Amino acid sequence: MLLKAIDKGTGPTRVFIGGVHGKEGLTTLNPIKLLNEDDVKDGKLFLYNYGESKYISTLDPFYYQSTMGEKILNIVKTHKPDIYVELHCYKLESYHKLVDMERKEKVGVPPLIELEYNVLLSSVAPYLRTKVFRKNDICITLELPCKPEKKSVGVYVEVMKIIAGSNNRAEIEDKLRVKYPSQVIKAQKYAAEFFGGYPAF
Ligand SMILES: [Zn+2]
Repeated sequence: MLLKAIDKGTGPTRVFIGGVHGKEGLTTLNPIKLLNEDDVKDGKLFLYNYGESKYISTLDPFYYQSTMGEKILNIVKTHKPDIYVELHCYKLESYHKLVDMERKEKVGVPPLIELEYNVLLSSVAPYLRTKVFRKNDICITLELPCKPEKKSVGVYVEVMKIIAGSNNRAEIEDKLRVKYPSQVIKAQKYAAEFFGGYPAF
């Protein structure tokens, strides 16, 4: 459901969605609630979060035909966001699988990139990135442990606020680069390799 819509006039449209599948929305709800009017300078921000739904991986081709998948496609069609952020959480025991350097060979997508304190960043599912969004749109997945420590929540929210307060890719990259220079380079490398000439996210 739509939790909050912030409108600061002309500028990019941003959509953040938590509760994409399973019980993730129970974890993403509180971090999302920490975003407020002051975090957006220009443009719009729509904050969505959903309760429990069936767990289907977003890499599964059937996800976007599922009830939640269709909801997400409708939200994207409605707002046509320039900046789209999917908020996920993961079980700590899956950490190694998510950051595995051979993830591309094993499941067909690049590994997630750790910012710090188990907060991970990547692009979104290839179907969404290449078939629904335009190349110049910005698509980011943020993951934190489903039972996060305070420090993880802090990083997660800080990155959300960076994105909420930025108007374009260069601004987001510049701000992230201050604390996470090697991670930004990795994101650029993975997107270029995996999606064929795509920008970092
Ligand atoms: Zn997820």
